[in-house]
Amino acid sequence: MDNVRVRFAPSPTGYLHIGGVRTALFNWLYARRHGGTFILRIEDTDQARSTDESMNAIIQGMDWCGMDYDEGPGKEGPHGPYFQTQRLDIYKEHIDRLLANGRAYRCKCTPEELDERRKAAMAEGRPPKYDGRCRDLGLTEGVIRFRAVEEGKTVVNDLIKGTVTFDNSVMDDLIIMRTDGWPTYNFAVVVDDATMGMTHVLRGDDHLNNTPRQIQIYEALGYKTPEFGHLSMILGPDKARLSKRHGATSIMQYKEMGYLPESMVNYLVRLGWSHGDQEIFSMQEMVEHFSLDTVSSSAAVFNPDKLKWINHHYINNKPAGEIAGLLMPFVAQEGWAAGQDYVEKVVLVQREKCSTLVEIIEASRYFFVEPEMDPKSAEKFLTAETNPVLQRLIELLEFMIVFTHEPLEEAFHKVMEETGLKMGKVAQPVRVALTGGVVSPGIYDVLEILGREKSLDRLKRAVASITPA
Ligand code: GLU
Repeated sequence: MDNVRVRFAPSPTGYLHIGGVRTALFNWLYARRHGGTFILRIEDTDQARSTDESMNAIIQGMDWCGMDYDEGPGKEGPHGPYFQTQRLDIYKEHIDRLLANGRAYRCKCTPEELDERRKAAMAEGRPPKYDGRCRDLGLTEGVIRFRAVEEGKTVVNDLIKGTVTFDNSVMDDLIIMRTDGWPTYNFAVVVDDATMGMTHVLRGDDHLNNTPRQIQIYEALGYKTPEFGHLSMILGPDKARLSKRHGATSIMQYKEMGYLPESMVNYLVRLGWSHGDQEIFSMQEMVEHFSLDTVSSSAAVFNPDKLKWINHHYINNKPAGEIAGLLMPFVAQEGWAAGQDYVEKVVLVQREKCSTLVEIIEASRYFFVEPEMDPKSAEKFLTAETNPVLQRLIELLEFMIVFTHEPLEEAFHKVMEETGLKMGKVAQPVRVALTGGVVSPGIYDVLEILGREKSLDRLKRAVASITPA
């Protein structure tokens, strides 16, 4: 396919929702698959609701997920995104065209009047739409409305939903420019998509009802309509539209929760798209295989367990050094002082049991700070009976030249031989002394990572805490 041009057009009125990220991703993949162009367009004409913070969150989210965009003036540089607020002249010019060809008119009805008429229409069982009373008054002030075609039907040949037919009698004379001079969504989006040469508009199916209105605007301006594809919503486990009450929905929240961007992108691509029964995809594989033919028309249910499973995969399959690098900000946030090499050692022994970076941090406190002793574990394993075992081990460890796996193992075996105790009886008190609890990676790994000084320190402190029999 030649010259595919697609866009992601978020409104900067909140955080970047994972549903939005999926829409962006499908567009990005479609562009990259076909060697096309992907643009980011910030739809910021709603001045009252748009914020810089939200705009930054969008840019950060795109960046974090590895979705680059191709053109646009940007705020400072030449590499995007586009901002609708920088395009006011273009909208005005198109408004003038519609006013000139009779497809737009000014309306002076006040919000109160409209509200009253809407209520009356509903009470009489009529559709509550604008009655068109200013259509032919030739007014020179007021909001600008689009003159809708109310006869016939508008057909949307949707790439995902199939053919959807709308009866034009439901069309309303939309306000396309407010009295403050700002255009409204349905109009601005058409002007932008047309003048930016979009070949495909792929977006959430919450916009499907807007599409026939937009098609009428394209036609009134004499523009060719792009292809449309409406993606089904993402639902929560209770089948209601995914929202905050189902848990985190902002993409950057997932970063804070210790998810990797690869996991988010991999998880989101499978929400509505499939390639055989493959679950794990690199970005490159997604680009290679992405096709709208296998995008599902039914809604997808967000499954946090599957997301965790995918994140576990990436945490365990990326180089440990990279995972350590990603953990460094979390380590700093805890106020722990440790170098990346040390963190990498921790990663190697902890990651198999962990699904998020935060889980690694939570399971690894004792590698960074003094352990908090679990009283039950101490009561069970730090006893008068285990005291001589720990003392003997301390003696052996004091004289060990290299504090690594093999000599440590030898020392443990020596203690086992001398005392006739099994591994568990020796290792468990040591584990409690070193980590404060009974769950940890292999005991030699723990000792080796903590090193001689810290290990001996903790063992001695454990011994000192034991009341003799
Ligand atoms: N700004 C609109 C939104 O965020 C864009 C919809 C579209 O893609 O046309 O919902």
